[in-house]
Amino acid sequence: MNYDVVIVGAGHAGAQAAISLRQQKFEGSIAIIGDEPEFPYERPPLSKEYFAGEKPFERIMIRPEIFWQERDVVMLLSTRIVSVNPQNRTVRTNSGSEIGYSNLIWAAGASPRKLSLPGFTLEGIHYLRNRSDVDPMIENMDAVQDIIVVGGGYIGLEAAAVLRKIGKKVTVLEALDRVLARVAGEPLSRFYESEHRSQGVKILLGQNILEAFGEDKHVTGVRLLDGHEEPAQMVIVGIGVEPAVQPLIDAGAEGSNGVYVDEYCRTSLVDTYAIGDCAAHSNAYAGNEEIRLESVQNANDQAKTAASAICGNPLPYDAVPWFWSNQYDLKLQTVGLFAKHDDFVIRGEMSARSFSVVYMREGRVTALDCVNSVRDCVQGKALIESRKIVSRDQLKSASALKDLLK
Ligand code: FAD
Repeated sequence: MNYDVVIVGAGHAGAQAAISLRQQKFEGSIAIIGDEPEFPYERPPLSKEYFAGEKPFERIMIRPEIFWQERDVVMLLSTRIVSVNPQNRTVRTNSGSEIGYSNLIWAAGASPRKLSLPGFTLEGIHYLRNRSDVDPMIENMDAVQDIIVVGGGYIGLEAAAVLRKIGKKVTVLEALDRVLARVAGEPLSRFYESEHRSQGVKILLGQNILEAFGEDKHVTGVRLLDGHEEPAQMVIVGIGVEPAVQPLIDAGAEGSNGVYVDEYCRTSLVDTYAIGDCAAHSNAYAGNEEIRLESVQNANDQAKTAASAICGNPLPYDAVPWFWSNQYDLKLQTVGLFAKHDDFVIRGEMSARSFSVVYMREGRVTALDCVNSVRDCVQGKALIESRKIVSRDQLKSASALKDLLK
């Protein structure tokens, strides 16, 4: 088996890479190798509409099955790549087959960070990354009433919102002193804490877990370091992810927290690209710091970058990061990167549940968190790209952010 392009990972980035190659008239052979049994599907609904039962699986597939056949993209599913041989240009599958490539695109995403505390192997403890993580939770939902979510990041909070909607008692345990601490500024954290509390979610901040305990191998609760106990028949752990890069690192690719890539998504191995959650890249919107982004935007845009490079039309990756999160009736859109801001202003009224937190650094807008405020998000993105110097007063008083671009 030999292909002009082998893509490892049938997720957002892998699927988009094949789509972009064909859109750019790439005529060579393409194979996507993925360890899940499903054709590529969207991951965000797993903690939103799919988890809530509002969207069936067919509606979250990235493309219908027939699409891949029509585009002559070979799908090797339920197949895991365990090693890469860059000298021979082959990858080895878990069943021992060797597959040859001219170009390799590593799009293996990430896997949930595991909580290695006593009791966290009991039944009823779940992680949330794949369809196969979510389906068992949905199946067992009727049998549980008290659910603990460990980790107050986006995924944990989205899951909490869905669970409240279906009437479960939900407790969020967060180790830091605010939710969303890694991804947003304090005003947004406090807003979401208050929203969740008003919806009946119990949020415990600054909490360290001692252990999970149970009966008959099944979890019945979690004990905190201070001795406090919370009951739970289901625990969902959402404490971040680890990039899935080991086979590539073992093959000699440079990297540690992710595989390092240049602006064309090239790794240090010849004709080998890495894209999506697993790719560590120098990002202009992070002050050229080496970062990994865990978002659909990054997966799709890096896929397009790698495809362009393979098609002989290299275009450097330079997209403004963006992300979204749906909780209750709140639609959050984040654009840019908030880290390293030295100032912020709030546009609109938080109490009206439609506002934006605008982050600045040295007088320029670097990021916005827009809650039910699509217009600010779209226009704020242009403001970030423009790198224009603006004042706090202008940002607060402008009726439309686009006025500041003039
Ligand atoms: P993935 O989509 O994870 O795809 C990687 C694939 O590779 C997986 O199928 C994996 O099983 C497979 N794989 C791994 N190792 C191997 C191997 N050795 N051999 C073969 N296959 C392998 N982003 C947003 O922008 N907005 C959101 O609202 C949002 N919500 C999210 C909600 C949830 C519950 C989750 C889990 C993620 C969410 N994200 C969201 C993040 C977004 O889904 C990811 O950033 C995106 O999926 C990354 O795409 P990827 O292709 O890099 O990785």
